[in-house]
Amino acid sequence: MSVTCDLIVRGGTVVPMARDGESFRGDVLVENGTILEITHGPAAGVSAATELDASDGLILPGFVQAHVHVVQSLLRHRADHLELLDWLRLKTWPYEAALDGDDVQAAAELGIAELLTTGTTTALDFGTTHDHGRVFETAERMGIRFVSGKTHMDMGDGVPQALLEETSQSLADAEALGHRWHGRAGGRLRYAVTPRFALSCTRELLVGCARLARDNGWLVQTHAAENRDETAKVRAITGLGNIAYLDSVGCTGSDVVLAHGIHLEPDDPGLLARSGTSICHCPGANLKLASGIADVPALLEAGVRIALGADGPPCNNRLSIFHEMSLAGTLHNLRHGPRALNPWSVLAMATREGARAIGLGEITGTLETGKKADMTVLDGNGWSLLPEADPASRIVYGAGPGDVRHVIVDGRIVVRERTLLSMEPDTIRSHVHEAARAVMARMEELVA
Ligand SMILES: [Zn+2]
Repeated sequence: MSVTCDLIVRGGTVVPMARDGESFRGDVLVENGTILEITHGPAAGVSAATELDASDGLILPGFVQAHVHVVQSLLRHRADHLELLDWLRLKTWPYEAALDGDDVQAAAELGIAELLTTGTTTALDFGTTHDHGRVFETAERMGIRFVSGKTHMDMGDGVPQALLEETSQSLADAEALGHRWHGRAGGRLRYAVTPRFALSCTRELLVGCARLARDNGWLVQTHAAENRDETAKVRAITGLGNIAYLDSVGCTGSDVVLAHGIHLEPDDPGLLARSGTSICHCPGANLKLASGIADVPALLEAGVRIALGADGPPCNNRLSIFHEMSLAGTLHNLRHGPRALNPWSVLAMATREGARAIGLGEITGTLETGKKADMTVLDGNGWSLLPEADPASRIVYGAGPGDVRHVIVDGRIVVRERTLLSMEPDTIRSHVHEAARAVMARMEELVA
């Protein structure tokens, strides 16, 4: 019997991630952007318009990151050695205030190029308060699966005037963006309502964000319990712990992703689990900003869904999921001993659990017939991936961004043989150099 299809990925070890521990030699057939079949052993009698070689490699679901800020990419390597609130006030907010539309686009191009070439096919992303359409346009063009929203800010210490919004206008802007972009590019783009955090949003704004999301079936994302000074201020202003306060304004639930979840109250893990709220663990950023270490094994034990994310380029300073997996797979040993997290659990956070956290578990996050063809192929011949052994151990403890060979999103090859295809890399570099110079000059004027 002969089968024709658009694309076949041949000759690798398939790690489908529908169940922890499963892997087998096989090929993946793709038709119309969807996985048509996954064979056990070599596919026979298949003629495909395009073939990708995965010999000696690992064929994985594309990685999912549930917390990034691609718009911050031009500030990378320029905001080191600060804790969260100073990092925001002295660097990140002045930078976001100084961005114009072209800078926003260049930052998004850089962030998305890094995500795709390091194997992340789906991201939940925070914008800034303005020009967010330029981020969606870039995501549409570059081929990533992207859930994103403009950030809301209508109060806060040290917020530049250019970022401070009027409450109803902030909500109206998000509503217009969501109606324009949610479901575009064949459903590859989706909207998420994105209040920055409790300290930069009035209660009225947070309640409005939750209502806007529920009225439209959009996700809610915000930051929570990242830093001790932040949680102390939330309690001083609201009389509640950070998670309890977000719960009181409607910002918990199975359609909510909270980044960080480090400084929790004793009742919080139960509240998060009961409400179905997901936590995105960001160990790279949490270490760099000296924020603390979320007790992920305890949250998992309580039944909380955990995803992974690199957070912002200026607080990490990279967007590679491999850095986050390596840290998540080792960091918790300090508190819980050497069996704190199984590498399969970590790999699940970076794939299946991340997709479920952002409401995309039915279409991506695992390799299964009928799901979208979002795939990352790793070269298995890298020195730190040898010799062959348990795939999750190889990937979580051994792999790095240089091992990513091919990347497919929605059936489209966006990275082939380590080269970005969906946009000319040198064009991105020239946009980045030009925009970084322009935004730094404007930032100095604003601060002066
Ligand atoms: Zn963040």
